[in-house]
Amino acid sequence: MAAILVTAGPTHEYLDDVRYLANASSGRMGYAIAAAAVAAGHRAVLVSGPTGLETPAGVERIDVVSARDMAARAAAAFVDCSIAFGVAAVADHRPARRAVGKPTKEREGYQLELVPNPDVLAGLAAIARPGQFLVGFALESPEQGGFEGMVSRARAKLVRKGVHLIVLNGPAAMGAECSEVHLVPAGDAPVENLPVGAKDVIAAVLVERAVASWRELAARIPSTAEHGPVRGNEDS
Ligand code: C5P
Repeated sequence: MAAILVTAGPTHEYLDDVRYLANASSGRMGYAIAAAAVAAGHRAVLVSGPTGLETPAGVERIDVVSARDMAARAAAAFVDCSIAFGVAAVADHRPARRAVGKPTKEREGYQLELVPNPDVLAGLAAIARPGQFLVGFALESPEQGGFEGMVSRARAKLVRKGVHLIVLNGPAAMGAECSEVHLVPAGDAPVENLPVGAKDVIAAVLVERAVASWRELAARIPSTAEHGPVRGNEDS
């Protein structure tokens, strides 16, 4: 049994009390992964931005709004987890200031100052203990460099974020029932193309793969018990 953390959905970054910036994301893939984890007998903690989705049975859900909330709540939950899936479509930037109320509409257009948001997944990788397995998602489009370009950007993300595996998909995945994903592992290992399938079928495969990889990783670290979360300060 593994404890699996999943970030899902968009984040909302408020300009004022009414308007916000967000990425388009239904949250379906992340929810499907959390549901698949529970169906396979694991514990699932879902840190979710605003979505219209029901919490899958047996999943522990923590609701957040902004990227900064998501980073804080995911980091706290990750302490008791063995695997993290970063599926959320986190807004890369937020308004530098949040106005109170609903300021009157600007008729002339205006400049909005944005500041970068934390990278939630990279934050988890930075605090990960040996034996904790991290999976990121990358949505890349083929306009630049075709499929090879998508893969090389996914590999660069894997290294930059410090995760073990990237699940690569194209723009067609957004909001769709079905998806086609490619597994991009660390190092020079080849990319694996999974067959096109419903998101819940793909989610089950991803959970199975991540758990198998986590077991291999944990087996190489003597202080990491396979059963139960990676706890304590064994690496400090
Ligand atoms: O947006 P990007 O392509 O960098 O996203 C790749 C991965 O990083 C995804 O798994 C996404 O959930 C995660 N991410 C994150 N926090 C961000 C940006 C991305 O956790 N601020």
